Parts: sequence; C-alpha cells; structure tokens
Amino acid sequence: MADRYLSFTGTAPGRFLTRRLGLPQPAPLERRSLTGGLLRLTAGKSDLDLASVLTRTGLGPDDAGRPAAIVLDATGVRDVDSLAEVHAALHPVVRSVAASGRVVVLGAPLDPADHHQAAAQQALEGFTRSLGKEIGRGRTVNLVRLGDADAEAAESTLRFLLSPASAYVSGQVIEVQAADTPVTTPDDWDLPLAGRTALVTGAARGIGAAVAATLAGQGAHVVVLDVPRAEEEARKVAERLGGSALALDITAADAGERIAAALPGGLDVLIHNAGITRDRRLVNMDADRWSSVLDVNLASVLRTTDALLAAGTLNRGGRIVATASIAGLAGNAGQTNYGASKAGIAGLVRSLAPRALAAHGVTVNAVAPGFIETKMTAAVPLFIREAGRRMNSLAQGGLPADVAETTAWLAHPASGAVNGQVVRVCGQSLLGA
Ligand code: NAD
Repeated sequence: MADRYLSFTGTAPGRFLTRRLGLPQPAPLERRSLTGGLLRLTAGKSDLDLASVLTRTGLGPDDAGRPAAIVLDATGVRDVDSLAEVHAALHPVVRSVAASGRVVVLGAPLDPADHHQAAAQQALEGFTRSLGKEIGRGRTVNLVRLGDADAEAAESTLRFLLSPASAYVSGQVIEVQAADTPVTTPDDWDLPLAGRTALVTGAARGIGAAVAATLAGQGAHVVVLDVPRAEEEARKVAERLGGSALALDITAADAGERIAAALPGGLDVLIHNAGITRDRRLVNMDADRWSSVLDVNLASVLRTTDALLAAGTLNRGGRIVATASIAGLAGNAGQTNYGASKAGIAGLVRSLAPRALAAHGVTVNAVAPGFIETKMTAAVPLFIREAGRRMNSLAQGGLPADVAETTAWLAHPASGAVNGQVVRVCGQSLLGA
C-alpha cells in the first residue's frame, strides 16, 4: 500500500501544513545511487589504512563540500579527551551531508583492561544512535567496530554502508572480526554470488521473494522454498529468476534431509526467511497459536540448520542468514509467541556463529526487520500502520528490497569477518532502540 503521507509531505502545501503541525518529515530515500563524494575524518590516533578500500567504494573525494558520505575513523579514541575530537571533526561538516547521505563511524572493541578506553568507545554507540535520530533528510548513521580486522576484512561492510543498499539501516552497531577463514574477494563485485547456490525459505512472496530476486541478481542459482499450497507462486518466482522451486513445509521433521537430498552439489547460502504470526494476548492464546509460531519461526530453523550442517550440505565459506524481527528484540503486545520465536533467533545466531565458523567455515547472522511495506503490514489497521511507519528516524516504512540488500551483504563471499551479528533493518525504529 502506497505511503500517501510520504507523497503528501513532498508537495509544497503538504510540507507547509505538516511542518506547522509539527508532524514527521520523511524524506524519500535514494535507493539507486548516492550523489557526491566521500569525506574522510579521523579522531584520536589511528593506524588503520583505509585509503585503498575506500577508493574501491566508488565514491570519489568530496570536492563540492557536499559529501554523500562521511567516514570517521574513531578507532584510536581512548579517553574522554580524544572523544572531543569526534565532536570537533563532525560538528562543522555534518550539516553539509547530502540528503540520503551516510555517516559511518569506525570504532574499536571495548578494552576490558582499560576502562577509560571502554568508556570512550562505548560513548561512540550513544553518539551514533543520537546523531541517527537527529540528522534527518533520509541520512543514516552507523557504527562499525573493527575487532583485530584490517580494512580489507571490512570492505564488504563499508561498501554496503556507503551505498544505497543500506538505505533503511540506521543506528546500528556492527562488529567486524578478523576472519578465521580468509576473506574471499569476488572476481566481480557486481556478481559476487556467481556459481553459488542459495536457498531461501518462504520465498514465494513478500520479503523472501525479494531476497531471492536480489541474490539471483548477484549471480546465485536460487532455490525458492515454500509450502506445498504455495507451489504455483514459488514456481513462478523461480522461473522468473532462472532458479528452481522446492515445495516443502519447513516444519516437516525431515525437512533438512529433504533439502540436502535436493541439493547434491551442496549449498552456499541458506536464508531462513519463512515466518508466521498468530497474534493474541497471552491470556487469550491457546497452545496451538503458541506452538505453530514457535515451530515455523524457531524450531524448524534450529532443526534444518543442525541437519544441514551435520550432513555437510553447507559448503565451506557458506553463509546462514536467519530472520529475526524488532518485535523479538523490543517485545510487542499480542506477540508473546512471535517475540519469543524471534528473540530465539538472536540467541541461536550468537551461540552458533563462532562454532559454525570454526567447524564448518560458515558464518551465521540475522536480519531484524522493522516495519516493512508488505501485504502483511498493509493489512494492519490504519492507526497502528501509521504509527509503525512513522516511529523511526527515517519516518517511513522500509521496502522488502531493503531487507534483501542487507541479507545479500551478510551472504556476500567477502563478509566472512561478519559473524554472529543481528542487524536491524528498521530505519532506527524507536521500538527497543
Ligand atoms: P509473508 O507472510 O508475506 O511471507 C512468508 C512466506 O513464508 C509465505 O510465502 C509463506 O507461505 C511461507 N511460509 C510460512 N510457513 C512456512 C512453512 N512452514 N514452510 C515453508 N514456508 C512457509 O511474510 P513477510 O512479511 O514476507 O515476512 C518474511 C519474514 O520476515 C518472516 O520471518 C517475518 O516474521 C519477518 N518479518 C517481517 C516483517 C514485516 O514488516 N513484513 C517485520 C519483521 C520481520
């Protein structure tokens, strides 16, 4: 359903009226290309060599004083005094960032042996999230914490955050570790998944269909999995993308074995997207509503992941991306079942990620969508829908493509140093922010 308020605020009378009434001012998000150059700043003393990686993002230097993006290297901030350099660097230039522009702050892990460094680095989180809430005009602000990773290990993440693909990702803290497996640089950054097979559950429609399309657009052979009653739609999606369809209820006890049997050449990218809601307040929720949501959204994800890892179906260098939700991170009235299932996804990711990487060379991450414009959210009553759309820093809903692009970044062959992350695609929703 079209966001009429967003269109209205784009007109002169709409802008006048909504400003007078103090209503939200969403800016249309630029999802094709960022216009302008890159401004690189440093706070504290840093040894990080970012030059070649940033050059490869395709953003040239900012000559016009109107940068499309600012990258602030704050990895060397070790105390409150050097934190002042963050203010000094950004204060004079933040106003000049173009609409739909990006601010990316680079930080370091908190040092358990130095509470001054830890305080200063944690301060960057509050700084990033606060700037994200005030910067406006469709601009985003994110913090990347570089573990012992070098700039190359962070390349796929920087490319993502400095591109239109991350239009609806703001206020996030993303950790990039040194990759235990070597980071694979694709021959062609436009077709990074060429020669790889990706399976997307629940891909006959909605976000899953968008994820399948994005992965296919990046070169993957996509297997479109959905329940047998959606086989026709799944086949149409697969045909359009040059992939194949698999009619299977993911809650079947032998779903993992059947996926493995259907993929004799193995699997490189596994996207757990299938999900359902059966909302009721806990007092009115029968056991069926509880167990069906827990089974589709969480238990089947655990079962199939375990089965596919044990069978060796996931090739080394593989990627698992599961779908959480901000409802699972923040909690939502009427969704104790859904919230529990989606929070469970975050737990699964954090626990399994280091072990799956060590044992199988596979990373495990999650996306946590906020309000995404789908048939599901179009059916939400008007007032709740409007609240969902506006209660985020970008004052609008995201698109399935925004979740798909974030998933594709986590599924990227060069994202081996991004592991165990739960990344919200929510325009910095106020829920649980
Ligand atoms: P959707 O209902 O449009 O699509 C879900 C798909 O999953 C359907 O095609 C459905 O047939 C399939 N599916 C359901 N049960 C299945 C099963 N047992 N086996 C195989 N396939 C099954 O939903 P959507 O809005 O596209 O959401 C996709 C994912 O994103 C879900 O996990 C959802 O919880 C999550 N999410 C969505 C939003 C949003 O705003 N739409 C927000 C947060 C999280």
